[in-house]
Amino acid sequence: MQIDFSKFDNGLIPAIIQDAETKTVLMLGYMNEDAIKKTYELKKVTFFSRSKNRLWTKGEESGNFLHFVSMKNDCDQDTLLVQVNPIGPTCHKGTDNCWGEQNSSEFDFISKLEKVIENRREDVENKSSYVKSLFDKGINKIAQKVGEEAVEVVIEAKDDNDELFLNESADLLFHYLILLQAKGYSLKDVLSILKQRHKA
Ligand code: AMP
Ligand code: ZN
Ligand code: ZN
Ligand code: ZN
Repeated sequence: MQIDFSKFDNGLIPAIIQDAETKTVLMLGYMNEDAIKKTYELKKVTFFSRSKNRLWTKGEESGNFLHFVSMKNDCDQDTLLVQVNPIGPTCHKGTDNCWGEQNSSEFDFISKLEKVIENRREDVENKSSYVKSLFDKGINKIAQKVGEEAVEVVIEAKDDNDELFLNESADLLFHYLILLQAKGYSLKDVLSILKQRHKA
């Protein structure tokens, strides 16, 4: 990626930060050549902060890092699009993005997980994804996995190891989301049936 930094005031190019999975715009920052280098090196988004007047790795105090996925220049080479996986809220005011929008209700996390599952399914190049390998094996295998995880939940429910019970529950929910996706549905479709029953 070639960038002509002399084109920019103070050698700073604007960088739009986007959630790689949900495509939500999280924040805008500025990068110089060193910030870009550092971002590749650390695999964490690093800006040149105009207020701090130094390189600033987002999350350096809060721990809310932006794990770097990819970056590209726009059509006329004057704005970067940086795709990331955010750890926690991106805005220092506590919201998920810098425009005060919140995505991180529990259900939105499920939606996010569903997006990840969908992206893996469509990612034909991906040879290392477990989710992709399940889709490749077909619906019977996925359904069988849900059955196995359900049995594990039943077994752990009888014990009093809560940690195992909760972990198997997470496995079950995750594989169930994959099964729904494989059938062309999402958890919303199941919830709408529950809501209809609730009304009756
Ligand atoms: P952090 O880099 O997340 O550890 O935050 C360190 C400091 O950087 C905060 O106290 C804020 O002053 C500033 N900051 C953090 N996140 C943002 C943001 N998304 N936009 C602007 N300033 C931020
Ligand atoms: Zn442009
Ligand atoms: Zn902010
Ligand atoms: Zn399990």
